[in-house]
Amino acid sequence: MSILVLGDQLTRRHGPVAHRPDERILLIESKAFAQRLPYHPHKLTLVFGAMRAYRDSLREDGRDVVYITASSFSDGLSTYFERYRDDELVMMRPISAGADSKFQHLVEEAGGSLTIVDNELFLCSREQFLTWAEGRSQPYRQEQFYRFMRRETGYLMDGDEPVGGQWNYDERNRAVPEEGYEPPAPPRYEPDEQTVELFEWVTEEFADGYEEKPYGGDWADPGPFRWPVTREQALDALDDFVENRLPQFGPYQDAMVGDEWAMHHSLLSATLNLGLLHPGEVVEAVIEAYESNPDVPIESAEGFVRQVIGWREFLRGVYTETMPQLARANQLDATADLPDWYWTGDTQMACLSAVIDGVRERGYSHHIERLMVLSNFALIYGVEPAQLNRWFHAAYVDAFHWVTTPNVMEMGLYAAGAFATKPYASSANYIDKMSDYCAGCPYDKNKTTGSDACPFNALYWDFLARNEDTLRSNHRMGLMYSHVENRDLDAIERRVSAIREQSSAGRL
Ligand code: SF4
Repeated sequence: MSILVLGDQLTRRHGPVAHRPDERILLIESKAFAQRLPYHPHKLTLVFGAMRAYRDSLREDGRDVVYITASSFSDGLSTYFERYRDDELVMMRPISAGADSKFQHLVEEAGGSLTIVDNELFLCSREQFLTWAEGRSQPYRQEQFYRFMRRETGYLMDGDEPVGGQWNYDERNRAVPEEGYEPPAPPRYEPDEQTVELFEWVTEEFADGYEEKPYGGDWADPGPFRWPVTREQALDALDDFVENRLPQFGPYQDAMVGDEWAMHHSLLSATLNLGLLHPGEVVEAVIEAYESNPDVPIESAEGFVRQVIGWREFLRGVYTETMPQLARANQLDATADLPDWYWTGDTQMACLSAVIDGVRERGYSHHIERLMVLSNFALIYGVEPAQLNRWFHAAYVDAFHWVTTPNVMEMGLYAAGAFATKPYASSANYIDKMSDYCAGCPYDKNKTTGSDACPFNALYWDFLARNEDTLRSNHRMGLMYSHVENRDLDAIERRVSAIREQSSAGRL
């Protein structure tokens, strides 16, 4: 028997690689994977670079590793089984919907057999999630799941009660820094020769590799590659976060500062999603810092623990239970095309231009920019949810289908009602409160109509008006709708028509 390891399962401490130290390990680097979407070159460099570094570290320790580069996964399996006839493979359960049966089929077609075992890269098993979800109807409540996970894991618990007496300290986590504030510089991991060559290769190889032009893999504007690709670098990134950015992580977690893309965020999402770090060790490092370092307040520790065991585990569970419907959901019947400038950053709107430029440069922006700038605009503009989902999936280094689908379709665009209880729609008000973008924007954040009015404002009122039948009865939307009556909806409609025309013409 040999162990099949996928590119998002790069752990040596969990799963068959850990439990079967004498078995051969198979990794397949599939070119077809890279051609499915116009992925950011940093994303491809990161996934393939981490796979190659994983291979090298296993070989250094004497493990027998077969590493195949192939045009497709099935070609790679055929090559493998020509050499190791009738071998049996074992792998951890893939997370993507439908992937179990797809891999079973591919392996059998290539002449082998496959056993799938539990995926140990999460804290909540599928059975645990099902137990929690049993008897509950959608929308699932994340807060209830989070408390369940706190009790199950014992993280930040004092007996049956949460440490500090509260489950959630969000009211302390909405600070915006003073002008000129400089957070600690985020680490950058200088790529080794192998990764540099890989980056050059993917940039060249996949620039035109995506059929659905106009935007192939050359839409990005990649800066220097910076992400951890080895376990050692991943551990260093964890230490760096805990030591330097965790203390202020909580208070500044929703703040957006134009020149500070990382702020106090952990930047560990890609590393976690590749399997280089386990969520348990990340959460435990944060709790240990909270217990030993008086500079780490409970709101920072709890806010981070919630992101990992409350949100990450929850979204994976919801994804598993609601696919394939979730990926096709569109309960608001949104049909607009994703504006072309999501790929180019070519817009005068200061918030969107800055965030998209950052994504083009490094394949990353933090969660509140994803939710309240990128997704919020697409929501109120009425973008078809699947189009934004594909954009996030292609553009972000930490994006996998199971990550973006619940985040984008549901949190961002309120497409399904699987767990979101209201749409996260907002006017310029929120962006102005939580960022410094509006101060440098040619649009007027206080105006709703007129050619210099912030597009978020008219789109926001228009969104509420055109979705009134679906949303007005939602008790969480009552306050928003109480303000719609006072608006000049005809003037707003005219402004929205102009916004759509300008957006299509690339002049917004
Ligand atoms: Fe964004 Fe509007 Fe503020 Fe400009 S004024 S930065 S478009 S929210």
